[in-house]
Amino acid sequence: MAPAPTRTRFAPSPTGSLHVGSVRTALYCLLAAHRTGGHFLLRIEDTDRARSTEESAQGILADLRWLGLEWDEGPGIEAETGPFFQSERLELYQAHVQQLLDRGLAYRAWETPEELAQMRRESERSKQSFRYRRRDYAPEELARFEAEGRVPTIRFRSPGHDVTIADRVQGEVSQSADELEDFVIVKGDGWPTYQLAVVIDDHHMGVDLVLRGVEHLQNTHKHLQLYEAFGWDPPEHGHLPLIFNPNGSKMSKRDKGKAAREAVRQVAREEGHAAGEHGWLAERTGLAVAVLDSFMAKQSDAVSVSEQIAEALGVELPMIDVLDFREAGYLPEALINYMALLGWNPGDEREILSLDELIEAFSLDRVNKTPARFNADKLAWVNSQYMQALPIEVLMVRLGQWLEVASSPMSGLRPADQQALIEMYRPRAKTFRDIDQLGAFFFEAPTGWAPKQVKKHLDKGGGWDRLEQTRAALGDVGRWEAPSLHKAFDALCEATGVGLGKYAQPVRIAVTGTGVSPEIFQTLAFLGRDETFARIDRCLAARISEPPA
Ligand code: GLU
Repeated sequence: MAPAPTRTRFAPSPTGSLHVGSVRTALYCLLAAHRTGGHFLLRIEDTDRARSTEESAQGILADLRWLGLEWDEGPGIEAETGPFFQSERLELYQAHVQQLLDRGLAYRAWETPEELAQMRRESERSKQSFRYRRRDYAPEELARFEAEGRVPTIRFRSPGHDVTIADRVQGEVSQSADELEDFVIVKGDGWPTYQLAVVIDDHHMGVDLVLRGVEHLQNTHKHLQLYEAFGWDPPEHGHLPLIFNPNGSKMSKRDKGKAAREAVRQVAREEGHAAGEHGWLAERTGLAVAVLDSFMAKQSDAVSVSEQIAEALGVELPMIDVLDFREAGYLPEALINYMALLGWNPGDEREILSLDELIEAFSLDRVNKTPARFNADKLAWVNSQYMQALPIEVLMVRLGQWLEVASSPMSGLRPADQQALIEMYRPRAKTFRDIDQLGAFFFEAPTGWAPKQVKKHLDKGGGWDRLEQTRAALGDVGRWEAPSLHKAFDALCEATGVGLGKYAQPVRIAVTGTGVSPEIFQTLAFLGRDETFARIDRCLAARISEPPA
């Protein structure tokens, strides 16, 4: 019997950009749902008023769309399960909180943040972990709190028995009653906490499988208590393992800050600036010294600061966010394929799988419990496979998407020329960015010619003469296109009895400045008649003005 359709959701908080690790979460949610013909939902969890931004929400939606992780229910799609921004569902949360209050399952707690911090310190001092438990307030106390203008939070009353998660990935995970605390469900600003909103929404949206990062495992104990209190069946859970950097550290957003700080320290050492003195850096980055001081003291971790430092010091930051990979010229198909295999395998040897094949093959039973290591070389390999295999029309769409976020000389080209470049380089370029680098000579004429190449292919054995012969032969070419150029070279070889390479390499050196280019006919066709002759002439002239020793 086919399994019942599964409803899953991806529920990002719009407090920054989409981390590559979240791609895996969203992807597995989509795969698990579509595997059974069910729906994949997207919900934006924006109840943290201080940290949520509309810009981040829009960025996340754009990243998911670029990745091809289209949701069946979510922002932009009318469905009775919506709205899909938690900030638009406050009445629903309030009604449920009232219900808990009425039933004595929730209560107002009046401690200020300072008092809570003090309580925490006291527990630490007596070497106990702090667990908030209900306190009774005397009527005078309550009167005083109100007179002081205190705003209470609302806490959920823990049921006082152990809670066990039957996790689809991690196995059974229990928390004993004495480890549970009465947690906050409504904050001082009147907004619900994540813990409350997530449960109410997952229930009302009919989610029956929750997949998320293992960092949420402890939260799930809280959620199960709420399900019980509301009398709802909880969904199934699967907590996905962490993703590590190759060096075994946790792959985290903070890696960018770390790398930027390391670069600052290194440059400071090299240039002899006193440690902790950031005037020089302020000058170079245009950032205020105070901003840099707090960044270097790890009191702030703004990605924009890291990026400005990296640019000023000419260092590269680690790729962490989806946008980093997009900007670096990766293909969404490849990122999806690679992330799918980071902690899961299809049960056979396949390494290249399309989204449809992943849906077909996906099963939670093959998701690993142990952390996976992110391997950038493997990702680049997967990307190169897609560069070679995707239909050119798809690559052209991807190129357009890349050029929306990256600066590249390719953006100035006509589509036909962009396509020609992709065709020439896709056997070798791992990413779009590679095409820029490999094909740099197309955009900028050489100002010098690799001496070794000149010596070997021009100075020796009559290379210069053959370059001149080629120039003359090309003068007769009618349509400046690869096939007619091919014919012109063939005719020349036939007339002189010399092999193609003896003609091709001198021209290649002349027009590229190096010994490497795609097939010579394509290369010259792309450069165009005028540019080809101009470059050959410049090379020939350089020989005349600087005769070989
Ligand atoms: N908003 C939470 C986060 O971004 C979602 C966790 C969950 O999937 O429940 O971490």
